[in-house]
Amino acid sequence: MVGQIRSKIKIAGAGPSGLTAAILLARAGYDVEIFEARDAVGARFIGDFQVIENMSREEDALEMLKRFGLDTNFYLRPVRQALFFDHRLRSQPVKSRRPFGYFIRRGSEGETLDRGLLAQALAAGAKIHYQTRIKPEETEQDGTSHLIVATGPAAPDGLAKEMTFTTSLPETVWVLFDMNLSPGGYAYLFVLDGIATFGCAITQDLSRINHYFDRSLRRFQEMVSFPIENDRTAYSFMNFSLKESAEAGGRRFVGEAGGFQDYLFGLGIRYALTTGYAAAESILKNTPYDPLWKEALGPAQEVSLVNRFLYESGGNRGLSLFIRQSGRDDLQDYLGKWHRSPWWKRLLLPLVKWRWRRTDRCVHRLPAHWCRNKPVSSHPELGPAKP
Ligand SMILES: Cc1cc2nc3c(=O)[nH]c(=O)nc-3n(C[C@H](O)[C@H](O)[C@H](O)COP(=O)(O)OP(=O)(O)OC[C@H]3O[C@@H](n4cnc5c(N)ncnc54)[C@H](O)[C@@H]3O)c2cc1C
Repeated sequence: MVGQIRSKIKIAGAGPSGLTAAILLARAGYDVEIFEARDAVGARFIGDFQVIENMSREEDALEMLKRFGLDTNFYLRPVRQALFFDHRLRSQPVKSRRPFGYFIRRGSEGETLDRGLLAQALAAGAKIHYQTRIKPEETEQDGTSHLIVATGPAAPDGLAKEMTFTTSLPETVWVLFDMNLSPGGYAYLFVLDGIATFGCAITQDLSRINHYFDRSLRRFQEMVSFPIENDRTAYSFMNFSLKESAEAGGRRFVGEAGGFQDYLFGLGIRYALTTGYAAAESILKNTPYDPLWKEALGPAQEVSLVNRFLYESGGNRGLSLFIRQSGRDDLQDYLGKWHRSPWWKRLLLPLVKWRWRRTDRCVHRLPAHWCRNKPVSSHPELGPAKP
């Protein structure tokens, strides 16, 4: 990809999606300016472990990074095994031959994905302005040729409370699936290299996140007692939407600002990198953005909506079955099958869209889209969504 014309690119948001686009465009010689609302990259995270999933696509996530030209100059650990628990705390070891994911860290300190991508963007010549909030609806008329909206989630479709702390626990990858403890979501404890992330993610009853977090934490501590030292806690939300177009008024929406995410488990990093790459590619090749992200993602988002519907509809019994089955097969193969799009899922899609269609106002950033009917969270820690 070689840029023919040196024109100006503005990128709102310095998360994985915006930084991926910045790296590629700056390397191609474009004048790239990134505007970040906070005072550092990754500032909405707390050094927590996240996973770049490696089960929804044939292509290995590391191969994908290589194809995008991104260096792995950040903390990266493959994960091949875990322990799943159901609501009765019955444990199920799960494993895969190839990694089913890669642990990375998020945040503004240390070897995080955010800082690694920023270093690559700066090395390529991009400039960053902190504490500068761009309103996505304002398309610049000052000679800026392109605006990429990479501002992350705007409203809570799902909500998580997370804590990171130091610990002497051995390496642990535990996930607890219990609709009563984390409605529509799950709770998790990841320990690697003496650092732990405990989290509770929910998609229902959002205003009671503290209650679910505390109860889930107690449940984990009943299984293994662990002291919590040097802890940091944060709340964060996630966005999911379906759309025909992720372009509006000359703006390209990438990552969660465009509602790009795998809705089954709320995993968005791979989508953020993929759409950031597609937005850059569309500028470099002077072609429309929509066909590129559609080709890269295929029906994955639609399938993930149906998967989420099945996940929530099955209740704790369904989750127990899901867990047992995960342990019987190679986990990567098993979850890979969930990401396929058989005829019956395609048939179910319009029904799910109708059943969950939003009837009230929504504050998502992308103008035209389908999103799920859900009240905006009244959780006091989050406050109203900002543009
Ligand atoms: C607790 C939690 C755990 C998660 N775990 C995983 C996981 O394990 N695996 C996975 O794949 N995904 C996970 N996700 C989802 C993943 O973090 C997101 O999908 C991903 O960060 C999206 O990247 P992004 O670039 O779209 O947005 P973000 O990473 O949110 O970055 C957006 C940036 O834009 C800035 N910004 C916002 N508004 C403006 C504005 N108006 N002007 C300028 N800047 C602005 C923000 O400050 C932020 O830095 C998790 C999410 C949460 C909340």
